[in-house]
Amino acid sequence: MKMILLGGPGAGKGTQAQILSERLEIPTVSTGALLREAIKEQTPLGMKAKSYTDAGGLVPDDVVIDMVRERLGKDDCQKGYILDGFPRTLAQAQALDTMADIDLVLYLYVADETILERLGGRRVCESCGATYHVLYQPSAAGELCERCGGTLGIRDDDRPETIRKRLEAYHAQTVPLVEYYQKQGKLRKVEGQEEVEATTEMTLRAMGEQP
Ligand code: AMP
Repeated sequence: MKMILLGGPGAGKGTQAQILSERLEIPTVSTGALLREAIKEQTPLGMKAKSYTDAGGLVPDDVVIDMVRERLGKDDCQKGYILDGFPRTLAQAQALDTMADIDLVLYLYVADETILERLGGRRVCESCGATYHVLYQPSAAGELCERCGGTLGIRDDDRPETIRKRLEAYHAQTVPLVEYYQKQGKLRKVEGQEEVEATTEMTLRAMGEQP
């Protein structure tokens, strides 16, 4: 299964990707996570990407497309994968069409007000990248990650003014992909407003799997 999770920042793509990846035993390829890793390691790619992610804008297409091409070529992706945060522009979607035959695009729909509320309370494990929310999905280990014991932090780009920029980029550049994949007959819309478990259930049904 080669699938895309499409949706705004904070729509729950990362959370659902984590759950689906365990269930389907295929890896998640998250461009946001790959970029954060490159920024942390201060690789040339990371240094190029940092100014864009810090400002809440999109990293240039060629940088992201090359990064995804390399990642999808690895052994663990041969059985399938879940793309989280890619493609985000029409150019990226067109490039992906030349790399892979995507089976399904799940569009997680969430209203902007909910996105603002969710991102404000988001916490991310600095070691393994697992995500939590202070109110809706707290870690069972309190201030630490319940999976690996790592420290939970706030992402640099989850500040209110950056969130607004990310939402603008989403509406201007990513929302047109809904129509793009609708035309290909691959899009399934899932309401992402609900609790995590309910969204997973709807996501699995949309995929034709038993919840
Ligand atoms: P995310 O974790 O998916 O919200 O991504 C965090 C940030 O990484 C975004 O705000 C962008 O600056 C950058 N980014 C992630 N994926 C992409 C992409 N497919 N194209 C361009 N920029 C991206």
